[in-house]
Order: sequence, then structure tokens, then C-alpha cells
Amino acid sequence: MTTTWHELADKISPRTGLLIEGRFQDAGEAFSVIAPRNGKSVADVSFASVHDVDKAVASARAAFEDGRWSKRAPAERKAVLMTWAELCRANADELALLMALEMGKPAHEAKAIEVRAVANTLAWFGEACDKILDELPHTSRDALALITREPAGVVGAVVPWNFPLTMAGWKVAPALAAGCSVVLKPAENSPLSALRFAELGLEAGLPEGVFNVVNGHGHIAGRALGEHPDVDVLTFTGSTEVGRYFLDYAAKSNLKRVYLELGGKSANIIFPDADLDKAASTAAWSIFFNQGEMCTAGSRLLVHESIHDEVVARVSAIASAMQPADPLSDDAAMGALVSKEHLERVETMVETGAKDRAELIVGGERVNADSGGYYFPPTIFDHVAPDAYIAQEEVFGPVLSVSTFKDDAEALAIANGTRYGLASAVWTQNLDRAVAISRGLRVGVCWVNCYEEGDMTIPFGGVKESGFGRDKSLHALEKFFDLKSTWIQLSEPS
Ligand code: NAP
Ligand code: MG
Repeated sequence: MTTTWHELADKISPRTGLLIEGRFQDAGEAFSVIAPRNGKSVADVSFASVHDVDKAVASARAAFEDGRWSKRAPAERKAVLMTWAELCRANADELALLMALEMGKPAHEAKAIEVRAVANTLAWFGEACDKILDELPHTSRDALALITREPAGVVGAVVPWNFPLTMAGWKVAPALAAGCSVVLKPAENSPLSALRFAELGLEAGLPEGVFNVVNGHGHIAGRALGEHPDVDVLTFTGSTEVGRYFLDYAAKSNLKRVYLELGGKSANIIFPDADLDKAASTAAWSIFFNQGEMCTAGSRLLVHESIHDEVVARVSAIASAMQPADPLSDDAAMGALVSKEHLERVETMVETGAKDRAELIVGGERVNADSGGYYFPPTIFDHVAPDAYIAQEEVFGPVLSVSTFKDDAEALAIANGTRYGLASAVWTQNLDRAVAISRGLRVGVCWVNCYEEGDMTIPFGGVKESGFGRDKSLHALEKFFDLKSTWIQLSEPS
């Protein structure tokens, strides 16, 4: 690009209202979105009250019932989603910049990774719209039975700030492809990209009311969606703690279906026969990319004791060279943590971690404080006891914990020894070992000789306290359909 991110930032004027009934509307209360890069306000954004959420759900319900989207031919829904994907690509700079400003990730990465991901997600589920088949089971000749997939109705989607558009896309695209109407609640730290994304959806031809955005506080707007009697499905990505609330909200309201993509403490297991160069550089990337604010971050590095020194030396060298920088600079490898509160949380966790059977060997203190921003460098704890604080708690920052193992059984026991079960990786050239370890891991996603790889065909989600339900792939559509069984008794067997 010829214009710099800074020049673009000077010109940008973000949308700040709530999107209800196809119009941006101001709500009673507005809150500042603070840029983590310098601690300054980017914009004042309307935050939804319970009443605003009611209006958004009513708008989604009306759109669903009159069929302006739910009863449209699948090929027509496909055309809109495909156009929306194109518009995201065409406006990639603006979407990327909004993410960099609101949550602090490098703008160039937001463009290369997130905007591409959300566009691909829209296009992929757009393509799927007219390729979904219903079922006609074999019955006796005096009956005809149909198993049909009916759109589930009004979907509430509540998402976090770490990948604002990727997470939104993983919920919104399959829900709309299935014919549902959606009310999205972005994280309070990252409403700006969601609002521009939604505006592009309207431009692409989404009928009004089909997609609504209620920026706001989790305990107000998120809770109102979770408790709403007219929301049929609630799909959530965020912390395990808040995931529990959504089960409670559903139990206390209308028993809406709830799907939870929650936290993780993923193990990255390296055996001596692995390609150590690739394994070590990927291990560093897997925890420091996106400032470590990644549910699948490889936050626990498990190395065979015979290669411990070599692997730790390599990862430490990469970590020390990889310092956070202004997210608007084109060579930033890491940006700022999302907020002052989150920076303080990470600092406290590092302090606590250092007191419990772990040795701090790299990083550990905030940097670039003069900027007014919230920067924390790559940080490594070595010789960590597998049940120590820093090996068990999700930091959601650039903090790696390194432990050793003696054999395959111990590697598996340590890897499975947390309450989480989101993702894991194993590095070895031995196929039998790779298969045995991957079969033994209690996780939803397992990588062999890579990390974070995959495409839209592969489901994503966890087990144990990392939640349930799957984003991505055709399986994601199952959340947004109700199966209907119709039995037609024939009077004349044919
Ligand atoms: P969070 O605090 O759980 O927030 C997620 C969303 O829930 C936000 O929109 C938030 O609103 C809302 N929320 C907060 N409190 C609520 C309440 N009482 N009732 C209803 N909604 C509420 O998570 P986060 O701090 O944004 O993100 C970090 C967490 O997300 C980590 O644990 C991470 O592992 C997890 N995560 C998981 C995945 C995955 O796919 N498994 C992906 C990314 C992140 P506010 O913004 O107003 O708080
Ligand atoms: Mg939170």
C-alpha cells in the first residue's frame, strides 16, 4: 500500500452506533474505545442497554418470520455472502486498521490473516448454501419420510476481541448460510471492526434486520442475549468463566441451545527425532503471535529431557529478538495487549507464576511504557512443574511455560493434565508415535509437525472445559439447523 497505516488512521471515521433493523442507531450511553497502542481514545461508541438488545432481537425475529432471508432461495443467499466476502477484500486496509486500533494487533497481520480469514469464511459458507442436502430415508412402500434441515431461528453470537473478525465470521457466516437471523455482540474492546464489517454486509445485499450488531458490556448486552426468551441458539467464544454463565442463562430462560468455544492451555510436544529448527521456531510463533492472545496458543512447551537445552536456547533467542512495537508499523512482529486491565492481569500472573516452581528466563516486564500503550514482551518460564500455576492457568499473553518429559507416557500425562482440551501439537518423525500421541490427546484439534495449520474444511473447537460445539467446516452448520422428521403415510403403497 502507498498510504501508511498512520496516514490512514488520521483519516478514518468509524461507525459508532448499534446496527438494528438495518440502520445505525445511537444508544443512550456511549463509551470510548481506547487504542492499546497509545492509550488514547479512537471513538465513542454506543453501548446497548437491555432494551436495545430487545429491539435487536425483535428485528431479527421479524426478519426471520417474514422470510426475507430465511425463505430466500439458497443460491440468492449465496450471492449475498460471496459479494460480502469481496467487499471485505476490497476494504481490507480499513478493516485491518480498525482491528489494529481497537485491540492492538499489527495492522499488516490483521490484513494478511484476519481480513483474509473472514472473507474466506463468508465465501466458503456462501458456496455451501446451495449444496446442502436433506435426507430421504428408505421406508416401507406405504410411507415417505423426510429429514429436513430447518433454519433454527434467531442466533445470538457473543465473541471476544482477540480475533474480532475471524471469530465473528465463524459464527455469522454459517448462521446466515443456514437461513437464520443474527444478533452479534462484539467484545467491548473491539466493536469498530464489527460495525464496518456489518455495514459491508448491508452493502452486499443483506436485507435489513437479518444481521444486527449490539456493541456493549458483556454483563449487560451479552447477558441480555443469553437470557433472551426469543433467541433460539447462542454461540459463544470467550473465557471458560463466562461460558459457564451462558449455560446458566439458558437454563434460567428458554433452554436455548448453547455452543461454547472457550479457553485453552495447549501443549506443544517436541520429541528428539523432530526437525528441531522448525519445531523451535514454530513453538515461538505459536505463543508469541497475536501477542499470545490466542485461545490455541502453544503456551505449554513440553520437550524431551535430552533436547531441553537446545530447544530452550533456540526459542529464547527468537523470543529475545521479537519485541512488541507500534501496531501501525509495517515491521511490527507483535503489537500491544488489548487493554490496561489485561496488561495488569498478565503482569500479576507473571509475578504469581514466578513464585511457584518455575524459573523466569526471558522477559517478564512491560516495555515501551512511554508510548502510553500496553506492551508486554515475549516471556519464558523454564523448568516448570507441570502442576505449577503458570502451567495450569491461561495467561492469554506472550508467556511460555517449558517442562520436560522422559517418555511418551509422561508426555501424554502432562499434556492431558489440565482442565482444558482445546488444541495440542506433537513433533516427531516417527509415524507410529505421532499417531499414538495424537490418539491419546484429549483435545478438539491436534497438529502433527505443524501448529495452527488447517483450512475451512476442518472443524474447530474443544473438549473438557474448553467447551463444545464446532466452528468452521460443514459441521458448523449443524448448530444453526433444527432437524425435522416428517412421516407421510400413503394410502396407496406404490
Ligand atoms: P470473555 O471475557 O469471556 O468475553 C467474551 C465475550 O463475552 C465478550 O463479548 C464479553 O463482553 C462477553 N461477556 C463478558 N462477560 C459476560 C457476561 N457476564 N455475560 C455475558 N457475556 C459476557 O473473553 P475475552 O476476555 O474477551 O477473551 C479471552 C478468552 O476467550 C480467553 O479465555 C480465550 O481462550 C477465549 N477464546 C477462545 C477461543 C476459542 O475458539 N476457543 C477463541 C478466542 C478466545 P465484554 O467485551 O464486554 O467483556
Ligand atoms: Mg473479559
